[in-house]
Amino acid sequence: MRSALRRYKTGYLIGAILCLIGLIALLVLVWEAWPEVSYEEDPISAFWTFLWTGQFNLISGIEVKPMYLIILSVTALIFGMAVFAFSRQRFFLPGKNFKLQCPFCKKYWKAGYDRGQVSCPHCRHLVHPKLAEE
Ligand SMILES: [Zn+2]
Repeated sequence: MRSALRRYKTGYLIGAILCLIGLIALLVLVWEAWPEVSYEEDPISAFWTFLWTGQFNLISGIEVKPMYLIILSVTALIFGMAVFAFSRQRFFLPGKNFKLQCPFCKKYWKAGYDRGQVSCPHCRHLVHPKLAEE
């Protein structure tokens, strides 16, 4: 149980870091491209040209094409979100029971959490149970 929890936290951390890297790379790119494209009549096609022809100074001495930076940041974002989504699923472990409350008879019972309608074991109403704190 503890290891599942740790993996979930690590997943969130990795997902957050990847998303952050992607977002920062995109922001830096837009920040750098803005002076070059803002005065153009067609900023979008100017930006597109900049992506392929421009040189982006990553760290002093290392220059990359802006397009590579876009690909890198988009990849980081997609991976980050995938890791994030995977970590979320991990949180709701199948078989884990939650304390649910019936909105009609206010009685509690334990079951695997399901967002759909379930039949209350006490009053037999078809309800959307409320998730109660343990
Ligand atoms: Zn009930």
